[in-house]
Amino acid sequence: MTVSGAGQKPPLKVLLCSPRGFCAGVVRAIDSVEQALARYGAPVYVRHEIVHNRYVVESLKAKGAIFVEELDEIPDTDAPVIFSAHGVPKSIPAEAQRRQFFALDATCPLVTKVHREAEIHNKRGREIVLIGHAGHPEVVGTIGQLPSGSITLVQSVEEVARFKPHDAANLAYVTQTTLSVDDTADIVAALKARFPQIHGPHKEDICYATTNRQEVVKKVAPMVDAMVVVGSPNSSNTQRLKEVAERAGCARAALVERATDIDWSLFDPIASIGITAGASAPEVLVEEVIGAFAERYTVDVETVTTADEDMFFPLPRQLRGNEAAE
Ligand code: SF4
Repeated sequence: MTVSGAGQKPPLKVLLCSPRGFCAGVVRAIDSVEQALARYGAPVYVRHEIVHNRYVVESLKAKGAIFVEELDEIPDTDAPVIFSAHGVPKSIPAEAQRRQFFALDATCPLVTKVHREAEIHNKRGREIVLIGHAGHPEVVGTIGQLPSGSITLVQSVEEVARFKPHDAANLAYVTQTTLSVDDTADIVAALKARFPQIHGPHKEDICYATTNRQEVVKKVAPMVDAMVVVGSPNSSNTQRLKEVAERAGCARAALVERATDIDWSLFDPIASIGITAGASAPEVLVEEVIGAFAERYTVDVETVTTADEDMFFPLPRQLRGNEAAE
């Protein structure tokens, strides 16, 4: 596809990464809010950003969603209260039940799977190591599945070296779903080297969407002069894509939320660019970025595909069968 405008513009080859953008968990979470609005009307309360993307959040706000950080910001109500795709500590559904809220859980099933793994390890008496980033809502949610002290967070190989288990022979690990595949492999290797008997998943718990988006960036980044990752700075999988691009040899990698954020001094002069998007970034923003490049260059867009995705997660039970109401 060639996109050009008026006048003499330099050529620019655009390699569009595929897969990119929305994953099945994000689609389910956004659909949950939209279906709740269609079925019950506004307002619908959402605890935390439903997914880490400002454009998505603002679009849902305009339709009647009210975003809060904690349940105590919500007045007594019979309106739906939705938990975000990142998952929540067990105390949150318990508090929602105490307040008699109509709670809808949009936690991604792949995050719920990690919660269940942690519970099984705990039932078997194992101390759990969680590989992840401190403060990320998914990490807060996973740690909050079990009593305080059951899970220790490690963020690096150095922290593995410092970790002091209660019983080195009775350990297990789980991971955040949106980590760097390569960094996590190093941390898992360090854990297995120190604690050969540690129990864990086959590789790690990084989800298919995170893995696939990193894989295609690894292929494209060495082929281009610069990379643009479309997404929000608070999105973990988006941040990882920028790091992966840099490590794969692309010195000029930028994360942009919108076309207006592009620092053009980074992209002058270039003959080729790779474009991808984090799992919470809508395709319309990718199109906006390509459009911005097309205003300055005669762009020739080619898609580079390293995996096909057909993952689909059904809506939360209470919202199923309502699609016709849209
Ligand atoms: S990035 Fe992965 S874990 Fe997170 S919502 Fe998407 S599919 Fe689920």
